[in-house]
Amino acid sequence: MSLEMNQIEKHQFDAVIIGGGGAGLRASLQLAQAGVKVAVLSKVFPTRSHTVAAQGGIAAALGNVAEDKWLWHMYDTIKGSDFLGDQDAIEFMCKNAAKAIIELEHFGMPFDRLASGKIFQRPFGGMTQNFGETPISRTCAVADRTGHAMLHTLYQRNIQANTQFFVEWFALDLIRDAEGDVLGVIALEIESGEIHILQAKTTLLATGGAGRIFQASTNAFINTGDGLGMAARAGLPLQDMEFWQFHPTGVLHAGVLITEGVRGEGGYLVNSEGERFMERYAPNAKDLASRDVISRASATEIKEGRGVGKNKDAVFLKLDHLGEELINKRLPGIREIAKTFANVDPIKDPIPVVPTAHYMMGGIPTNLDGQVVLDSEKPVNGLYAVGECACVSVHGANRLGSNSLLDLVVFGKAAGDKMVTEIAQNKAHKPLPTNVAEATLARIARLEKTNGENVTEVGAQMRKTMQTHCGVFRFPDLLATGVGEIDAIAERAKNIVVKDKSQVFNTARIEALELDNLVEVAVATMHAANNRTESRGAHAREDFGERDDTNWLKHSLFYKQNNRLDYKDVRLKPLTVESFEPKKRVY
Ligand SMILES: Cc1cc2nc3c(=O)[nH]c(=O)nc-3n(C[C@H](O)[C@H](O)[C@H](O)COP(=O)(O)OP(=O)(O)OC[C@H]3O[C@@H](n4cnc5c(N)ncnc54)[C@H](O)[C@@H]3O)c2cc1C
Repeated sequence: MSLEMNQIEKHQFDAVIIGGGGAGLRASLQLAQAGVKVAVLSKVFPTRSHTVAAQGGIAAALGNVAEDKWLWHMYDTIKGSDFLGDQDAIEFMCKNAAKAIIELEHFGMPFDRLASGKIFQRPFGGMTQNFGETPISRTCAVADRTGHAMLHTLYQRNIQANTQFFVEWFALDLIRDAEGDVLGVIALEIESGEIHILQAKTTLLATGGAGRIFQASTNAFINTGDGLGMAARAGLPLQDMEFWQFHPTGVLHAGVLITEGVRGEGGYLVNSEGERFMERYAPNAKDLASRDVISRASATEIKEGRGVGKNKDAVFLKLDHLGEELINKRLPGIREIAKTFANVDPIKDPIPVVPTAHYMMGGIPTNLDGQVVLDSEKPVNGLYAVGECACVSVHGANRLGSNSLLDLVVFGKAAGDKMVTEIAQNKAHKPLPTNVAEATLARIARLEKTNGENVTEVGAQMRKTMQTHCGVFRFPDLLATGVGEIDAIAERAKNIVVKDKSQVFNTARIEALELDNLVEVAVATMHAANNRTESRGAHAREDFGERDDTNWLKHSLFYKQNNRLDYKDVRLKPLTVESFEPKKRVY
């Protein structure tokens, strides 16, 4: 590894985008099409980003199956968020959803069709007609491989638009000057181990989720919260980190996701007594209630001894009654996953599933233009964030399924537009600070010491701590001890060394650097969860079982320095319509 400052190669761009998933590629497309010099950095080949794994679909009130309105979608999203979502951002997303779908369609995304020729739509949890009255089909899909179709479509469009890709490049740290402006990123070319500086007038973080802080996760191994780590180290806050979505249907032991689309198509959950238990927990929406509600119901069934399987530690997802034809047409990938990971053919037998860590509602705080904002809502010059690593906040305390893919394209485009404007106003690059890569080089150099901690051990300990102390249900004693444990793990992580220096492609170094980021996310999560003494959305405390709007209708902001927590108001005022006042949430 070259560690000398004078050996660092510099590159200049108008815009640097870190992340080649749906969020990054939608933004880069907007920039490239505007003729801006844009680079996309990705630690894996772009079409291997986690967006490729999105199954169920993307929401928009197209009304192709039944009457629909963006205002209903907005209401459902606010209710789904347990009123923590910012209503201006939610209005913006829902209002722009139909346009975003048509745009994807025009880019070439091969949506499934209804007999009428219009885009197919399926029901998804929490999506309803007329402010919660009846479930509605709002989620557009490409069978159960929607993200795959979307990501490949966006990638091909970027190739056409001449976006420059840096593939298998690992972003290490943001460059922030004394005035707080962001001037680009320091990155490592994985194959050679060389360090480079990518100087940029605008930098966008689109690094995706961090589900790998948990033992059981539907997330890819690459979802290590790198953008959040970079933001935290640059002194920026992380918002609402206590809110993690546990998806009700991860395959037992494997963690692989079975899309909510299965329940959208008519599948349902049963316990060991063969009872369709969601009828008790959510009498109206049943298996299409929001994910936090269903995960708690499954966890309760298991806890109370009505689990299935040898250890009674799962529930069954039943779909055989849907028939072979429908399963093969609409859920072919799910059939494959069930056969491979659960040894079950769902045409005949139910799939054993458990609530599994799935999605991070929190992230780097941004405004509606994707600009990263400080607690005062003041934008950080030159820095943007979009997608799962960002918190705009449209998902609040609980995301509705199929709203994430929508979030990526709506805010990816908005950020791209704003970056084009900012670039037009800044003709020259600001000078780089003299000590630009010092801290980063020191962080890498420590890995080369001979004695220290082992990355696999510290990582396993972190995942175990998060799983045990900060899961579907949160207990006061476990949270309190969890804070001590995770802080101790963060200390150990500072002393990680790479034992096997001969490894090809620097994979051991990358794993260690990823753990730096995972630990930032885990620490923020545990502290924020311990501090929020209420239950809201995905944050369910045993000691404070109710939502507390008087004291807690606010976003949390976690700062790495001194593990400090601060809070800011939820934006309850939409852009053009009346506010939806917080009320009790029943499904
Ligand atoms: C199994 C699964 C199924 C899902 N199904 C749905 C669904 O049906 N509908 C829905 O709305 N949502 C779904 N979601 C959620 C949704 O897919 C994700 O939230 C979304 O795709 C994230 O997109 P992104 O662009 O933010 O990040 P990602 O797609 O995760 O991309 C992150 C990018 O950042 C790059 N990167 C990260 N760190 C670095 C670094 N240090 N240096 C360089 N590059 C870096 C990666 O290489 C990658 O290109 C699903 C999620 C999962 C896990």
